[in-house]
Amino acid sequence: MPTDFSRQEPRFFSCFDDPAVRALCARMMELASEIKTDVELYVDAFRETLRFPERVFHRLHQFRDVYDRFLQEVIEREDLGVTCGKSCPACCHVVPCGLEPLEIIGIYDQIRQWPDFEAIIRGAGAAMSSFQKVLQESGPTGKTPVKSSSEVFGRALSNFYLLRIPCIFLDQKRGTCRIYDIRPFICRAVFSLSDPAYCGPDHPGFSLRSLEVIEPVDEINFVLMETHAVMGASLGFRFPDILQQGLLAWHRWVRERPG
Ligand code: SF4
Repeated sequence: MPTDFSRQEPRFFSCFDDPAVRALCARMMELASEIKTDVELYVDAFRETLRFPERVFHRLHQFRDVYDRFLQEVIEREDLGVTCGKSCPACCHVVPCGLEPLEIIGIYDQIRQWPDFEAIIRGAGAAMSSFQKVLQESGPTGKTPVKSSSEVFGRALSNFYLLRIPCIFLDQKRGTCRIYDIRPFICRAVFSLSDPAYCGPDHPGFSLRSLEVIEPVDEINFVLMETHAVMGASLGFRFPDILQQGLLAWHRWVRERPG
């Protein structure tokens, strides 16, 4: 089981064959395919208007809902022994990665109305500067950008966690996520299986903590990747898959787009 924030190969749980879990995966597949079809249809118009039909984000919302139910089914059926407290922010000192473009766009659309939007964007820039520094110090990076699936990237995520730099969306007074309803899939998918006290980097048991990442079956990820590719090709824009970097890059693209 993973003990750090490295991107692991999705794990196949035996309960994926259970009818109830299969039904949830089938529904996610259906929604992901419908989203992909709409993105293919409307991405060229989106380039001009920055708007997709309402149903695209409605389906994404439905997908999140089914995904949350899928996670609960897997946790219960596999008897994983998750120890996370309700809305615990211990893991919210990271740069969430593996985001899909529609997640970034949906979050961006929501936060651009906020009075502290510019401060959030500056915070994203500061977080990425810190992360890039940690990345350089975490081992040979070779080609840039470094793949989020690489060993050095995983080490950098773990090292960054030790710095206790809060996520730009962590409300530090309340200890809650400011975008909870639309938080990234990866934020939903990581669970602690060890004593919650071990999640504190100062705790002697920190290096022994155990994390589980629950991801849907490959077929669904494949459709999401195809949707990502369609958007990137049409917009001529490579969406970074790190939350903070994605928001920064999208903000720049929106401001500087031709026309
Ligand atoms: S987006 Fe929300 S849940 Fe995810 S790391 Fe940030 S504060 Fe935590």
